[in-house]
Amino acid sequence: METFSFSREIPVDAEYDLVVAGGGPGGAAAAISAARLGAKTLLIEGTGSMGGMGTSGLVTAFDPMANGEEGLVGGVMREIVETMYKRGFLGPQVTPEFWRRAYHRWTPFRPEGLKLILDEFAIEAGVEVRFFTRLIDADVDGNKINGVVVNNIEGHHYVPAKTFIDATGDAVLADLCGAECREAGRDTDRIMPGSLCSLFAGIDWKRVLSEAAKSNPDTDAPAGSDPAKVDNWDKQKVHGEALKKALADGHFTQYDRFLPGMFQVGSSMGNLNGGHIFDLNALRCDSLSDGMMLGRRIAMEYTEFYRKYVPGFEGIEHATTSSLMGVRETRRIVGEYEINYEDFKARREFPDQIGVFNKAVDIHPYEASEEEYERFVKEFRNEARPGVGERYGIPYSILAPKGWINLWVAGRCHSADVQVHGSIRVMPAAAMMGQAAGTAAVQSIKTGQPACDLDTEMLIENLRENGAYLPQNTSSKTMTRN
Ligand SMILES: Cc1cc2nc3c(=O)[nH]c(=O)nc-3n(C[C@H](O)[C@H](O)[C@H](O)COP(=O)(O)OP(=O)(O)OC[C@H]3O[C@@H](n4cnc5c(N)ncnc54)[C@H](O)[C@@H]3O)c2cc1C
Repeated sequence: METFSFSREIPVDAEYDLVVAGGGPGGAAAAISAARLGAKTLLIEGTGSMGGMGTSGLVTAFDPMANGEEGLVGGVMREIVETMYKRGFLGPQVTPEFWRRAYHRWTPFRPEGLKLILDEFAIEAGVEVRFFTRLIDADVDGNKINGVVVNNIEGHHYVPAKTFIDATGDAVLADLCGAECREAGRDTDRIMPGSLCSLFAGIDWKRVLSEAAKSNPDTDAPAGSDPAKVDNWDKQKVHGEALKKALADGHFTQYDRFLPGMFQVGSSMGNLNGGHIFDLNALRCDSLSDGMMLGRRIAMEYTEFYRKYVPGFEGIEHATTSSLMGVRETRRIVGEYEINYEDFKARREFPDQIGVFNKAVDIHPYEASEEEYERFVKEFRNEARPGVGERYGIPYSILAPKGWINLWVAGRCHSADVQVHGSIRVMPAAAMMGQAAGTAAVQSIKTGQPACDLDTEMLIENLRENGAYLPQNTSSKTMTRN
């Protein structure tokens, strides 16, 4: 490739204790946690709100946060969901049971509510937030970052800081620094598809739910049961029958058997997680751009599908598609530890775990084929789904890029194999990782301990003091490593 080189002088900002790149569930939780612990924290975010996929991506349901017996997710994430509940930002069917106890149950919410709550939490904690600001380069010395280059309407700026958290989802900062990363499509021959999510109005939810409860013999909920207890999976099965018919009728331009479904987020509002964009490589701008255009076209096909084929959706109105592509898989760091499927199957808990979780491995079909759909269903519903009362741990060391001094990741770009990534890439886990990374950065500043050799006993104590649910009985000053 031909190259072009240029140099220019750019303004230098005052030094921060911590710069967080990306304001999704991972980055927002990291910045809020660090600022609450007294760190001078800057959060830079490319869009105009925090929440990432949960807001700009219109992914408007938190994945399961309990295992049927106990709530697993504490700390900042629990504060977020409980505050949203009190303020009426969760779906009208949602009760605290959803996140405090229920098994494999999603908690739908309205994206505007998440935006507002994260704004409030950040302001209260004293986080300096810069929207419409992108991280574009890094100034690195060995395995230590001195500063980053950001760009916004004011042009380029150099921002020096003591510590950095990469919460971009795509490991943008880690990659720019030269930290080792794994890339879907480069290191694997397949990439999980993306989805462009949509928000809808005009849905008759009462009808949708009562049809789901009464007409689905295969449902987990007994026929005629309380519609509020019919979860998304049950509805999805009802809609699955309609989907089969629509596919047979040739309604869709692609034969996609997997429809994650429509979540109720308001009295007549719904959010669609559906319509896969296969072979999308979100690390390539051309692929991402083509994917956005295809996603918008597909969203119209799903709107018409619901209107024509599913009772209760006759008056559906498509409000909008999301402004961010729903990306499931791109780049992950190679951390001090890479959590793997054997750990998951053993329901392994770690002395340095910063969270516990119960979600199934959720690797969407890689292609629009019946075989891939069957593979997904088998894995997600049976083989790779922890049971009631089970949990497994998320160790600190998957947030520490191998050998790095003052760099952490939070959220989707953590260190895991493809299967475990398919479980913990979701919002509640991302937020737990964010709180841990933010807390670790503050500990590192106070003690001089590097990210790759942090005293994890101290970290776990700090996290527990701030509400994290960490039930391990053993502790260790040293982290889990490969
Ligand atoms: C279609 C789809 C459906 C999903 N469904 C669910 C679900 O039902 N429940 C659930 O809990 N999870 C779900 N997930 C997973 C979940 O939404 C994400 O994995 C999670 O949001 C990851 O959090 P994060 O903070 O790592 O990244 P993100 O939420 O992706 O946030 C990253 C943020 O970083 C910003 N950013 C990126 N690069 C830069 C840069 N260079 N400079 C500045 N800012 C930058 C982005 O604008 C974004 O706001 C779904 C994901 C997809 C794609």
